[in-house]
Amino acid sequence: MDRRLFGTNGIRGVYNGELTVEMAFKVAASIGSFYSGGRMLLARDGRLSSPILSHAVAAGLMDAGCTVYDIGLSTTPMAQYATKALGLDGGVMITASHNPPQYNGIKVMGGNGVEIPREDEIAIEEIYFNSRWRRGSWRNLGVRMEVDGFVEEYVTALEGHVNPEALRDAGLKVVVDPANGVGSLTTPYALRRMGCAVYTVNGNLDGTFPGRDPEPVLENLHGLCAAVTAFKADFGVAHDGDGDRAIFVDEKGVAHWGDRSFALVERYFLARNPGETIVTPVSSGRIVEDVAEEYGGRIVWTKVGSTIVSWKMLELDAKLGGEENGGVFYAPHLPVRDGTMTALLIAEIIAETGRGLSQLMGELPKYYTVKTKIPCPDEAKEAVIGEMASIVKASRLETIDGVKAWFEDGSWILIRPSGTEPIIRIFAEAPTMEKARSLVDEYRDKALSAAKRLGGS
Ligand code: MG
Repeated sequence: MDRRLFGTNGIRGVYNGELTVEMAFKVAASIGSFYSGGRMLLARDGRLSSPILSHAVAAGLMDAGCTVYDIGLSTTPMAQYATKALGLDGGVMITASHNPPQYNGIKVMGGNGVEIPREDEIAIEEIYFNSRWRRGSWRNLGVRMEVDGFVEEYVTALEGHVNPEALRDAGLKVVVDPANGVGSLTTPYALRRMGCAVYTVNGNLDGTFPGRDPEPVLENLHGLCAAVTAFKADFGVAHDGDGDRAIFVDEKGVAHWGDRSFALVERYFLARNPGETIVTPVSSGRIVEDVAEEYGGRIVWTKVGSTIVSWKMLELDAKLGGEENGGVFYAPHLPVRDGTMTALLIAEIIAETGRGLSQLMGELPKYYTVKTKIPCPDEAKEAVIGEMASIVKASRLETIDGVKAWFEDGSWILIRPSGTEPIIRIFAEAPTMEKARSLVDEYRDKALSAAKRLGGS
């Protein structure tokens, strides 16, 4: 079957463009049928279309005989935790994560709180495309119940994974920028309960995302950087629209990309738990390996994708995973990305070490990253990647997702096909900017000529 509903992170689309109320109802009825009318969690982010889609999804699940436990507004990680903590069969989260406000989406998680694997998505797609969802009769329909106050239970669970005394003694001052998203419901409250003085920017829930673009990339965080300096805060944290990613700003107002904050968490985790396995996609940088080498950790590479990291962690019983975009997976809580959990972990490191975030970041090695992309028809991607793997002269190769090649001087290049667009992405990282640029230039030219030759254009 080549028809697909699910992309790399659930179903996504523009509201009343690719994603309509009718479709949401049918998708939910298919999900409910897949779960044989089980007990399902329902949650939504703060987008303007989320209440409508949530009603459609509730209707679809109930028509398929499910009992719906609706926790209402929630971050994705809180919904994931709720699914597991309430002992439900699965859950549905209405969100488009970091996408612009006109988008929305549907994520499905299993009873363990982790987004379902591809084979379960295929089973749901088969029900959907063949219109085989179960239609309830009047006497065996599901019901919807509202579950109030789950934030309290969730934040209490997070607190169990950090040192509350150290945090209260430190009395940190923190600025939170949840991008007017649902992270505003959990992170300020969790930090305040730990004795932090919390200020917010873009802290009111607003589905139009008036403050900034909901993707927490460094160029969107000027407001947070300025607020951290103005309030003389110890650090700042920015989330995406559904609160699963966290990007940090140090006390000097400098924002650090997610591979650095992940490496910091990794360093303190491995110092306490030497020999543990760290799960991370091939797009992660050298810094994650350097920390693992220094503190005796073992890196397991995966394909790019947060769900893939979660399932690999479950398979290996790994306690820590991370992505360069600000996703930290802390399995003592749950092996999923959780921006609020990550904020507490970084606050704990600052509190316990008594060192500023700029100093902690300064202790980590520094690398430079350059990224680019080239056009490549879908049907030629595999051949182009194969040719790149055969011509690259590297000290080490990893081909789990495209080609990642490491060189003797500590630099590396990653050439990987996009799963959604007719392009190939090229990333290089090196100890100097010049070297990273020259690597990207060299392999862009090689990949471009291969794509032209093998793509027949
Ligand atoms: Mg997200």
